[in-house]
Amino acid sequence: MKSDVEISQEAKMAPITTVTNQLGIDPDDLEQYGKFKTKVNFDPTASHQDGKLILVTSINPTAAGEGKTTVTIGLGDAFKELHKNVVLALREPSLGPVMGMKGGATGGGYAQVVPMEDINLHFTGDFDALTEAHNTLAALIDNHIQHGNQLNIDPRQIVWKRVLDVNDRELRQVVIGLGGRTSGVPRQDGFDITVASELMAILCLATSLQDLKKRISKILIGYTYDRQPVYVSDLHVEGALTLLLKDAVKPNLVQTLEQTPAFIHGGPFANIAHGCNSILATKAALAYGDYAITEAGFGSDLGAEKFMDIVTPRLNKTPDCVVVVATVRALKLNGGADKKELNVENLAALKKGVVNLKRHVEGMQQYGKPVIVAINKFATDSDDELSYLSNYVKNTLKVTGEIINSWAQGGQGGLDLAKKVIAACDTPADFHRLYDENAGVLEKMQAIVTRIYGGANVELSRKAKNQLKRIEKMGYDHLPVCMAKTQYSFTDNAKQLGAPENFTIHVSDLQLKLGAGFIVALTGKILTMPGLPSHPAALDMDIDENGRITGLF
Ligand code: ADP
Ligand code: MG
Repeated sequence: MKSDVEISQEAKMAPITTVTNQLGIDPDDLEQYGKFKTKVNFDPTASHQDGKLILVTSINPTAAGEGKTTVTIGLGDAFKELHKNVVLALREPSLGPVMGMKGGATGGGYAQVVPMEDINLHFTGDFDALTEAHNTLAALIDNHIQHGNQLNIDPRQIVWKRVLDVNDRELRQVVIGLGGRTSGVPRQDGFDITVASELMAILCLATSLQDLKKRISKILIGYTYDRQPVYVSDLHVEGALTLLLKDAVKPNLVQTLEQTPAFIHGGPFANIAHGCNSILATKAALAYGDYAITEAGFGSDLGAEKFMDIVTPRLNKTPDCVVVVATVRALKLNGGADKKELNVENLAALKKGVVNLKRHVEGMQQYGKPVIVAINKFATDSDDELSYLSNYVKNTLKVTGEIINSWAQGGQGGLDLAKKVIAACDTPADFHRLYDENAGVLEKMQAIVTRIYGGANVELSRKAKNQLKRIEKMGYDHLPVCMAKTQYSFTDNAKQLGAPENFTIHVSDLQLKLGAGFIVALTGKILTMPGLPSHPAALDMDIDENGRITGLF
């Protein structure tokens, strides 16, 4: 089997204008980045009819990922083979993990978006723009303090850190402003990864350039010495920050290996942020396609819950069908198999691990829309394992399930699943909200923990309790909660796999993200700046004299 980058380099791409012409996008609305990538000036207020929306999510993954992106792309290509007008909406990869863990975010095998090298590297510069905008605000805050601090900002209570799109654990805690009077006021600071920036969340939730500006003006940057909140609007820099993002806010369009259109825009992580591509990209996919297929990050406990509870009210659209991706490998891991032995048949572990799938399916079913299981086939899965899992889905979970083999076969490998998804989209069903947005913060977290995670309760640290009081006093307790939690477990402990019961979720801190419009609840030992592994993917990458890239998976 060829590597992903080899398959991608051999692909015959159509000029992106061929794709946009098929979608009926006015050439005047394109801002092309070379021949195969374009930004689209999309006006969500122009009249159009929304297509059907399909949300792809998964079980708790292995460290390599379970193939949601691969399945999303393969499913899209299968829709195209069935002559359906389909458009994908995906997240942009973060450079940190691209250089770190093997595996990008552009799919794999014969289900990829292309040009994968560009998309996995700087693409159209959105993340660079976000990083610069974020750090410009950080510099403006420190500059304000340096020049007299008229707003009376307490340097010890600044909540706006700095960001980089690099996995750099050394920068988690830093001291800045050393070097005397002319080099600023020393204080403790820290770096997050760009995908954890509130600006990333804002970009993904904004519905227009002006909405972006409004949200940026509301960002809480810290508190004064007398504990009063300070916002971006107090610094009067929302205009400058918005203009730094004027291009980044426009959705990017590329194609799959089979020339299916794919918007790729925005990329918050689902464990530390809300985990979904931009609302503008999803709206564009719905406007131009009869079917829009989108992916939410990590397992359904993270990205999909946030899609349902945070994104859909702002998107004004709920999914017509939810696809839960499962793999034999991850279920074996959830059933206690050694992570180095997932290529070996192990029916006993699989039988134990399927409880993980059950909880993900039941969690998603609470929203009322049809739920389908996609079994993403790996070459190492045995026939017995695949048939056990298929039967379990059909007879025990009593939901529609289908094996998808798009990694090896592209769209052809997803035809059966696509037909089932199309049928499910035509099944009338009502959407049920998980919680009322006006419920209290604790009540919302309790709903997520008990009904989605299958846990018993939520416990707040002393710091989180104080924060909650402050949030209530400030009148922001009506905001939805964005849980920051490990992707490996329903609990806040990455080692508790399967479907644990009677557990407590420990909230260490609550952070107000007023521009994004949610409260982040940090649980367990979640980190907002990852580190690199002992053998980072970067060690295997190279580029030759012809510009040909190798080792990018
Ligand atoms: P997710 O979106 O769930 O994180 P991805 O689609 O990015 O997962 O896939 C994770 C990794 O697994 C990628 O490197 C991809 O190429 C690989 N992969 C996905 N599906 C398969 C499959 N069926 N067989 C082999 N490798 C796969
Ligand atoms: Mg993915």
